[in-house]
Amino acid sequence: MPDGSQPALEFTYASSPARIVFGRGTLARVGEEIAGQGGNRALVLATPHQKADAEALADALGDRAAGVFAEAAMHTPVEVTERAMAAYAASGADCVVALGGGSTIGLGKAIAYRNGAPQVVVATTYAGSEVTPILGQTENGVKTTLRCPSILPEVVIYDPDLTLGLPVAMSVTSGFNAIAHAVEGLYAQDRNPVSSLMAIEGIRALVQALPEIVAAPRDAQARGAALYGSWLCGSVLGTVGMALHHKLCHTLGGSFDLPHAETHTIILPHSAAHNAAAAANALAPAAALFGGELAGGLWDLAGELGAPRALKDLGLAQSDLDRAADLAVQNPYWNPRPVERDAIRALLQRAWAGTRPE
Ligand code: NAD
Repeated sequence: MPDGSQPALEFTYASSPARIVFGRGTLARVGEEIAGQGGNRALVLATPHQKADAEALADALGDRAAGVFAEAAMHTPVEVTERAMAAYAASGADCVVALGGGSTIGLGKAIAYRNGAPQVVVATTYAGSEVTPILGQTENGVKTTLRCPSILPEVVIYDPDLTLGLPVAMSVTSGFNAIAHAVEGLYAQDRNPVSSLMAIEGIRALVQALPEIVAAPRDAQARGAALYGSWLCGSVLGTVGMALHHKLCHTLGGSFDLPHAETHTIILPHSAAHNAAAAANALAPAAALFGGELAGGLWDLAGELGAPRALKDLGLAQSDLDRAADLAVQNPYWNPRPVERDAIRALLQRAWAGTRPE
């Protein structure tokens, strides 16, 4: 569906088979959701940071908890997964509960990919991994990405109460991470009318909720709206293909060790500007949320919310930009605007310096 023309409506649509349980207090429903999947005893997963929450959940689950494994780490290192597999086998678990953000959810997916364990996810950030059949894992410093139906969690519980304490800075960058899925989903080659509706509604919900969260971090209404938006944006990521923006963030995270959500936040206004003309029709409803200017609007919003806007502030050296541009154009991939090295290098320069996109 190239922009600028009005082709006949033609698409393929497949919905994600996940079950979504949304609302305040839904953490209390983990036990019945485990049973609904035919599970008897769950290994509860978390990062070291959320270990106490995982232990409290295991206590509340009683006999339905087989134990807690709280060693989840960013980018799903295979050695952590191997330790978790051993803990799973030793505990007699027959399913997993992942309580946390993308790192913990990644560990649950990695287990399910290896042994088919049903997954109940309690999502506590806005990254969106919980509704995708995608797993990124690292081994010997190399990150590979897999897509497989067994990776998609069977049940996702969204309880806004668990996000009341998500630090404000992380709430903002995690929210931008979600918005990035939706922006790229709008111009995806394999988009469909439903994925585009979800993308626009997801962006709208987050653009409204994030300033409210910055003003009042424990506002449960705003937290609920942000989680709702992140579900929609994550669902878009799980359904359609991504393009230049995700490729750049993957390169910067994988090869330069830049933090995931902050990198998405900084790159998004520049990737949106880069693709603005080539995807004008597809992006028009998103631009309308920002008074007609999507890239500049995103950059302004990031600034108003106190988010980082320059790669140099994440510690990236200007001398790394050439290599980053080389890596980003290495394997051919689809993007609404052809991927050319010089334009990508210029984009990275602006993102590095933190200048407002044209
Ligand atoms: P994260 O899971 O790494 O969490 C960051 C830190 O915040 C952790 O210490 C975590 O315990 C803590 N935390 C999470 N929720 C909290 C809460 N409500 N209150 C207080 N602390 C909380 O961060 P993330 O951004 O959610 O996930 C990033 C990872 O997810 C990356 O590895 C990325 O590649 C992956 N990811 C994968 C997909 C996919 O579809 N496969 C999608 C998005 C992100």
